[in-house]
Amino acid sequence: MRWQMGRRSDNIEDQRGMPVGRGTVVGGGIGTLVLVLLALYFGVDPSVILQGVDPGGSPGSTRSAQQQRAPAGDDQLRDFVSVILADTEDTWGELFRRMGRRYEAPHLVLFSGAIQSACGFAEAAVGPFYCPGDRKVYIDLSFYRDLRDRLGAPGDFAQAYVIAHEIGHHVQDLLGTSSKGGAHAQGAGGGSVRLELQADCYAGMWAHSTGQRDLLEAGDIQSAVNAAAAIGDDRLQKQETGTVSPDSFTHGTSAQRVRWFTRGYETGKLEACDTFAANQL
Ligand SMILES: [Zn+2]
Repeated sequence: MRWQMGRRSDNIEDQRGMPVGRGTVVGGGIGTLVLVLLALYFGVDPSVILQGVDPGGSPGSTRSAQQQRAPAGDDQLRDFVSVILADTEDTWGELFRRMGRRYEAPHLVLFSGAIQSACGFAEAAVGPFYCPGDRKVYIDLSFYRDLRDRLGAPGDFAQAYVIAHEIGHHVQDLLGTSSKGGAHAQGAGGGSVRLELQADCYAGMWAHSTGQRDLLEAGDIQSAVNAAAAIGDDRLQKQETGTVSPDSFTHGTSAQRVRWFTRGYETGKLEACDTFAANQL
């Protein structure tokens, strides 16, 4: 994708390298302080207590600098993500305007390892996600290495598709579609699958828009389609467990994900993405 000249988004929150404890980091600090104050109060030399506490140093400072430094190459990746996010803002901003609505741009949080969101504590292993509670997209950039190396989906447009899919969930949130997910039976063809496939279709709509602005390079759409197939439930399950059980599908099969992404890409139309009206996914 020809992205280098693109606008950078102001809505990136870079929280990489920030320690996230489930309250432990903050609690430890306050606990130490209280002990020192008590020691001073009771006439004990505070260094006795300070030496006895946390021999690894304070959790926030040293660890974040040494162990959680972002790997080389991540800054270009951050730049790329920022351009993709900005492009979705412009694209959906225009599409919403045409509907007579206002697009509220979401924030995108970069994190490393683990993060506390309004949807709870999440580790990088869950993959990128959208949290309706704070209307933010969360991504640990290491997912892109997994996508390329473990799932066999390389290419910058594969990476862009991942962002565009999460933005698709934000669009659902703004349009009030998200609530439909729970109203249908779960499992194959259930509400969550229809929501996921619709987010894929919306990602396709965004790809359609980039194509119209001549930002696509040869192989881009194929690399997004390949990524959609790589993270289909059937493919992932087979890779992880060796078997496929359609009842536990939450995102749709590889074929379905490719079909809906392609539909969005070819039409560029919101109406074409009504997975809830479709008889066949
Ligand atoms: Zn999704």
